[in-house]
Amino acid sequence: MALGDKVLWFGTKKKTSFGNVRLKHRELFFGNKAERKSLKTVEKAYAAVTATIAKISMGDATAAGGVRDAMQKYFKCQQKLTVMAKLELVQNGMKGGFAFKTDNTSRQRSINVFGDAPDEVDLTEGYVRGMDAGDIHVTRDYIMNNRFQAVRVLIHEATHKFAQTDDFDEQGYMEADGSDFREPGITSAQCLNNADSYAYFCMALGYT
Ligand SMILES: [Zn+2]
Repeated sequence: MALGDKVLWFGTKKKTSFGNVRLKHRELFFGNKAERKSLKTVEKAYAAVTATIAKISMGDATAAGGVRDAMQKYFKCQQKLTVMAKLELVQNGMKGGFAFKTDNTSRQRSINVFGDAPDEVDLTEGYVRGMDAGDIHVTRDYIMNNRFQAVRVLIHEATHKFAQTDDFDEQGYMEADGSDFREPGITSAQCLNNADSYAYFCMALGYT
């Protein structure tokens, strides 16, 4: 994805409940609403990861049942400690501070830039370029209009950045509602390294 390579970004340093985050944007002045919604996305993502870790560690029978079902659905196995270890990397990585870009990688933006018809343009939900160093991008459409997906994409990208997860094409991406993988075939070993498995697992167990 080359969008964003040659444009100037502005940064706004913000305190969150867990640490500092740098919101990056293309406008000289970031609108209050966009800023508020970006911060909310970051806070909700951190909270979802934290609550999910808590549920995995909880001995309580009710939580255990939910965790077991979600493990089966998103990881096709019960290797909870592997999942928890990766989520702790994400949690610590977020706490350590990161840059969050609200990107205009929406259909509308792509149409404006390239003049392509809507159905020829892929919607880019988000991305992180390279592990560790890259900023996390999430499409502005989601940040402004779809908090569930904004939070899910942020967690997805954060697992790439902080826990070195991968994508497995259509076998690894999930349907928007998290009901199933888009195509069958992913193995449990792949699930344990699949960004969308972690994202939807956290959305199922920890997102409120
Ligand atoms: Zn990905």
